[in-house]
Amino acid sequence: KAKSAGGGCYAAYHPDMLAGLVARLELEADLRVALDRGQLHLHYQPTVDLATSEVIGFEALARWQHPERGMIPPAEFIPIAEATGLIVPLGRWVLREACRKAVEWSARSGGRKVKMAVNVSVRQFDRADLVEVVAGILAESGLPADQLCLEMTESVLMTDTDDNLEQLLRLKALGVTLAIDDFGTGYSSLAYLRRFPVDTLKIDRSFVERLGALTDDTALADTIVQLGKSLGMATVAEGIEEFGQLAALREMGCQFAQGYYFSRPVPADEAGRLFLDGAGAVR
Ligand code: C2E
Ligand code: MG
Ligand code: MG
Ligand code: MG
Repeated sequence: KAKSAGGGCYAAYHPDMLAGLVARLELEADLRVALDRGQLHLHYQPTVDLATSEVIGFEALARWQHPERGMIPPAEFIPIAEATGLIVPLGRWVLREACRKAVEWSARSGGRKVKMAVNVSVRQFDRADLVEVVAGILAESGLPADQLCLEMTESVLMTDTDDNLEQLLRLKALGVTLAIDDFGTGYSSLAYLRRFPVDTLKIDRSFVERLGALTDDTALADTIVQLGKSLGMATVAEGIEEFGQLAALREMGCQFAQGYYFSRPVPADEAGRLFLDGAGAVR
């Protein structure tokens, strides 16, 4: 940004900028170490079937317990991982860990299969070997492909479209489920949605938020649910915090949901108990 100050000249650094840059470089170096030393871990947030209130699976969410700074949220370290390329080994680690847990919990559940959703960054699609990595991790973990859901934002459909489409078709051919995360916040068109092998739309939390008990601003969430129905895609509502939102989404015919109303993302042990206890019904 300093560069744009004029004719190829660099504007003088403001001390805050330098401090910001140093902090970022430090965080980047620390993230490298964290990945090597196992300072990252996963939390798991249940996905609930709205018809039965049963937990059908989880979304794996990365957590970084920094030795000095405490818990650093993914909104802070995922962008750094994306900018530095660290997202590739990080993403591989998340996938491996999440698949292992899905196998473990499924094996102990007497036939109920955990559906595991993993976030995949658009940067991971820049690599030609994404499909092989996923196939390799499914094979090594023994997780049946239909128990894995890969979540990606609309940006995957909108950039490198031909290349990403091909990778998605190959992932689809493995048998994994594909979901569009934060749906409604990007710029994908209906034409893209039809062209890509998408199974599930995750309705962004911002649309669910407005479904509070005192408002009847249901139009946007309802439109996405109906869109999903007409395209043959499942819908998952993100960020349900109140019963009113749950009731409204159920009414619309939304099939699945996540949110603090059911459970926050929880450590692996707790997630395993949640799934295994009492057929997993929450609320
Ligand atoms: P996301 O994939 O859309 O995940 C949902 C986020 O909403 C999570 O935040 C979750 O904790 C939060 N959430 C769930 N229910 C509620 C609710 O009822 N109310 C509110 N206010 N929030 C709720 P989190 O864990 O901080 O993750 C933020 C984002 O970081 C994720 O958004 C995802 O884009 C990214 N992320 C997290 N883990 C990974 C990862 O392993 N790989 C990649 N590429 N991205 C990740
Ligand atoms: Mg997600
Ligand atoms: Mg989301
Ligand atoms: Mg989101």
